[in-house]
Amino acid sequence: MKRYDQLLATLDLGFVRLRNRIVMGSMHTRLETAGQAAERMAAFYRERARGEAGLILTGGHSPNQDGRMDEDGPMLTSHDQLDLHRAVTAAVHEEGGLIALQILHAGRYAKHAHCVAPSMLRSPINRFAPRALETEQVWATVDDFARTAALAREAGYDGVEIMGSEGYLITQFLCERTNRRDDAFGGSFESRMRFPLEIVKAIRARVGDGFLLIYRISAADLVEGGLTGAEVAELARRLEQAGVHILNTGIGWHEATVPTIAAAVPRGAWRYAIENVKRAVRIPVIASTRINTPDLAESLLADGVADLISMARPLLADPEFARKVRDGIPERITPCVACNQACLDHIFTKRTATCLVNPRAGHEREFAARPTSKRKSIAVVGAGAAGIYFALNAASRGHAVTLYEAGTEIGGQLLMAGAIPGKSEFGELIRHLRARLAAEPLETRLGHRVQAAELVAHGYDEVVLATGVRPRLPDIPGIDHSSVLTYLDVLAHRVPVGQRVAIIGAGGIGFDTAHFLLDEHDESISPARFFEAWGIDPELATPGGLRTPSPRAACTREIHIFQRSLDKPGARLGKSTGWILKAGLQRGGVTVVTGVAYTRIDDDGFHYVVDGRPMVLKVDNVIICAGQEPERSLYQQLVGHGVRPHLLGGADSSAELDAFRAIRQATALAMTM
Ligand code: NAP
Ligand code: SF4
Repeated sequence: MKRYDQLLATLDLGFVRLRNRIVMGSMHTRLETAGQAAERMAAFYRERARGEAGLILTGGHSPNQDGRMDEDGPMLTSHDQLDLHRAVTAAVHEEGGLIALQILHAGRYAKHAHCVAPSMLRSPINRFAPRALETEQVWATVDDFARTAALAREAGYDGVEIMGSEGYLITQFLCERTNRRDDAFGGSFESRMRFPLEIVKAIRARVGDGFLLIYRISAADLVEGGLTGAEVAELARRLEQAGVHILNTGIGWHEATVPTIAAAVPRGAWRYAIENVKRAVRIPVIASTRINTPDLAESLLADGVADLISMARPLLADPEFARKVRDGIPERITPCVACNQACLDHIFTKRTATCLVNPRAGHEREFAARPTSKRKSIAVVGAGAAGIYFALNAASRGHAVTLYEAGTEIGGQLLMAGAIPGKSEFGELIRHLRARLAAEPLETRLGHRVQAAELVAHGYDEVVLATGVRPRLPDIPGIDHSSVLTYLDVLAHRVPVGQRVAIIGAGGIGFDTAHFLLDEHDESISPARFFEAWGIDPELATPGGLRTPSPRAACTREIHIFQRSLDKPGARLGKSTGWILKAGLQRGGVTVVTGVAYTRIDDDGFHYVVDGRPMVLKVDNVIICAGQEPERSLYQQLVGHGVRPHLLGGADSSAELDAFRAIRQATALAMTM
């Protein structure tokens, strides 16, 4: 059995003792905007404390109105807000956990008209221009941080984390990029450091000893005009001297044009920046960002890169992460696949955060897993995401489940996702699901294309069809030409593809297929290649830690993507990941042509009309990525036998083929059956 001695070691700071080195990192959830916020937030954090996280950091709370992320953004500014927080801290403490409130002033990232900043410089990612804070307003803001810390102590929190990274107000004060002030808070680096140092001093003076003070430092800004590694180290030393107990690390400003947390970033890529902070101080340092497995966490601690490991999304994916490590069952940890689909992308679109692989996250009360009072025999057809999640949840409630799969592998669309460069984390998810299927008391029959007659003859109480989708074949003359392949042929069956390619369909799968065909060198699994491709300086010698990106490794393939509409290509890609995909394709020279009418496919190539002009493109292959049709041939047959099957996932609706919807729908059905 693997040992995780470092990860499971306690950390004694004298006035507080962490039961292990696993920190649940701060994450916006927007749970505070939902109905019954106190109950939902208490349930959410309780579950993570019960799962034995060593320390929990809440989502960011603004110390004043101006600093809210948006109009609904949470803040802690007065006593009448304490009840909600007391519900949260009580729940965590009942489970033996510790919790600190994060204080976050958004500065020029605030999405409202009252946003403020050190100087009147608008952020490229915000349409609102900030007002520059007057000197006395800066001092007032320092006081506001201290007031919020004092309120947090009253609410029962064990400490606070000052958000000093990711490009929010404090980082805006630290960097010349955003600080053009000529008062005591601008100019030299010494003066630019004054704002965070005064905040730390003011909080220490207000809350006294015995209250955890964590500062999240920007270990690498990854923007031009950011700090150098030497400046980050100097700031770390000064924060230690000012009385910070623990330094957490953050990577990259939100306006950085390099990916920092998406799956396209190799795991553990940021260790160089964390080590730079660790070398500068004696207080404990928390490593964060793109760490999602206990093995990686343990190795970072064993190598002395950090003293604690922060994981935000992984604890959304599996609140019992720490307990499973302690119980010696790490393979049972549901892995976060770094897709951002249901967490960050939900937040960016003003929805509450949940998780693709764990729909209970943020919905703990609705999805309470209770044993069934009436055990049923249930057939589940299709071992893709929907079928597997239904089968696991139904079996864990006590139903007798048989899961049928025509193929010899589980995974369905997840298998294809795992083949895409930068999405290899989906392979981890499949490995995990395989282990869980083996551990649960249910029968899995792979390589068995079950027929309606067999299901009827068996007399199951319930039949669930999660048979997925098949690629849509558009009505284009020559669609049966030998050069035509579907995305399934390419991604799942690995049919060889030629050098000149036309892709029909500019949706998520068209883009992913182009990426698959382009990327002979998957940058997401090699930090060195990733740094070169995105222009990251692991020496941290330059301001912001950036350098000129290297040209993309030679790709001999020529790829053109087509769509009929004039919509912006890739408009429906994930908000936090679509830009990464598009940037990668652009670097690879992939073109996207919109407003196209398809004429035919023949030996001369791919014929189409654009702007009224007939065109022909000599291609080796045309790959169809034109959406899907539901695969539900069993449905009518079963209905003919008087059986009323349930439909799940793509078999139910292929229009919005979406693993999140499929998993959530499957989990919900299993909870009610
Ligand atoms: P999709 O996003 O709906 O895109 C389908 C594409 O096919 C569109 O570009 C559409 O454009 C075209 N199309 C539709 N009907 C057609 C027809 N009859 N003839 C020719 N072209 C046609 O579907 P998808 O790419 O298969 O993706 C499925 C789901 O998975 C989507 O919800 C997608 O967001 C998600 N997904 C996301 C990602 C990601 O975010 N990276 C990756 C994979 C999948 P026109 O109608 O304009 O021609
Ligand atoms: Fe991780 Fe995706 Fe879940 Fe977010 S939605 S926590 S990125 S698996």
